[in-house]
Amino acid sequence: MKTVLITLITCLAILTNCTAQDESTGVTHHKFTVVKTDAEWLKILTPEQFKVTRRKSTELACSGAYWKNHEKGIYKCVCCKLPLFDSQTKFESGTGWPSFYKAIHKDAILEVVDNSFGMERVEILCSRCGAHLGHLFEDGPKPTGLRYCLNSLALDFEKDEKMSKK
Ligand SMILES: [Zn+2]
Repeated sequence: MKTVLITLITCLAILTNCTAQDESTGVTHHKFTVVKTDAEWLKILTPEQFKVTRRKSTELACSGAYWKNHEKGIYKCVCCKLPLFDSQTKFESGTGWPSFYKAIHKDAILEVVDNSFGMERVEILCSRCGAHLGHLFEDGPKPTGLRYCLNSLALDFEKDEKMSKK
């Protein structure tokens, strides 16, 4: 009886492991819940926002609305309004792009290996609509050591009136 139980537990552990691996392989196994055509996106986005989020373009450094924003609040995906980053985890990276050391929730962001321009970088996408947000680097501050380097054009800032008044 004991042997059967151990075998069962082992099988279960292997199965659970496989599922977890599948989820972590990225876009191919991920189902975006907000899906629109280019024409539909263009109706709700500016041409600049469309180019960054739906065509993976990058805004010029120091050109965006949020790299110098010090207001308290939440940064959402400009396409589907999913909350992505909290101003409490924003830091001065000196890059000219809004930078955070942590996402608001681990499931909000999707990480994909990006080999464009002869570099191996980690691209970050909105997990709900697949919007290109920016890239993830491992030279951020404590406690995570991560730097989520974002395009202001991919974000929509919602100021927290209560927090800002304090
Ligand atoms: Zn989104």
